[in-house]
Amino acid sequence: MTILAEPTAPPCASVPDIYHDEQLHSPPARTDITAAEWEQLTAKRASAHRQCAACPLMVDCLYRAVVEVDVSGFVACTTEHDRHLIRRQLGIQVQQASMAPYGAPRVGGGPVSHEAVMTARQAYPKDTCHQLAERLGCSTSTIKRHLRRAREQKLEAAAAPNEATALLPSIDAVLDAFDQLSTSRVA
Ligand code: SF4
Repeated sequence: MTILAEPTAPPCASVPDIYHDEQLHSPPARTDITAAEWEQLTAKRASAHRQCAACPLMVDCLYRAVVEVDVSGFVACTTEHDRHLIRRQLGIQVQQASMAPYGAPRVGGGPVSHEAVMTARQAYPKDTCHQLAERLGCSTSTIKRHLRRAREQKLEAAAAPNEATALLPSIDAVLDAFDQLSTSRVA
C-alpha cells in the first residue's frame, strides 16, 4: 500500500487573519495605543514570528515579498516597513501588489485602496489623518500607511538608479539585509 503524504500548508494559510492584521503588518506607534493593546500586539507578533521562522517556505517567501511584488501583510517575519528597509539597502524597487500581473496575493489593508486614499488626500489636503480615515471609513493607521508609502515612492523615484541596468539581488543579499533588521533577531 502506498501512503501519499499530504502537502503541508504554510502556517499563514491556516490563520490568515493574523497575517492580514493591520496592526501587525503596519504597527502603530507605542504612544498611539494602550498598554494592554501593546501587550496584545506584541504577543500576536511574537506568535506570527515563530510561525514564519519555522516555515519551510520562509526564504522563498521573503525573497518574493522583497524582490518581486510589494505585497501587503505580515510576511516572512517582516512588516511592510521592514521590507521597504531591505529594498532601500539593496537599491531596488518593486511593483505595487495591485499593479502586479498576478494581482494582489494579500489584501490585509482592507478594502480602501491606495488610490482612494491619495484621491482623498488631494481633495482634502488640510484634513488630518483621522478626518481622512472617517471620510473613507477606515482606520487612521491605514491612512498613515498609504501616505507613508506615497512619500517613500516619491523619495525612491527621485533616488532611483537606472532601472534598465538594475539586476535582481541574490537570495544571499536579501538574507544579509534581513539579518540587519531587528526583526531577524526576534525570529
Ligand atoms: S514565511 Fe511566508 S509562507 Fe511561511 S508562514 Fe510566513 S508568510 Fe506564510
